[in-house]
Amino acid sequence: MTGEQEKQKNKKCPLCGGELHDGITNAPFFEGEKIVVIKEVPAEICSECGESYVKSSVVDGIERLLDKIEDIDSEMSVVHYKAA
Ligand SMILES: [Zn+2]
Repeated sequence: MTGEQEKQKNKKCPLCGGELHDGITNAPFFEGEKIVVIKEVPAEICSECGESYVKSSVVDGIERLLDKIEDIDSEMSVVHYKAA
C-alpha cells in the first residue's frame, strides 16, 4: 500500500481531457500591432488535440523577452526562448 503511482502526475488538457506531456512549442504573441513568435518554448502539449500550454515558470522569461522586443522597430519578430 505505497503511493508508487504518484511518481508522475499527468495533467489533463482542459479542452479535451487528453494527457499533457512535456514538450517544446513555438508560441505567437500579439503585442499591439506587433507579432512576436517565440521559438522553442518549454510547454505542456496535449497528446490528443495538440494544444500547448506554456508553463507558468516560463511566463516570466517570455515577458522579459517581449519587453526587449517592444524597443525594436519591427512588426514581426522571431526569437528563441533561450535568449530570455
Ligand atoms: Zn487536448
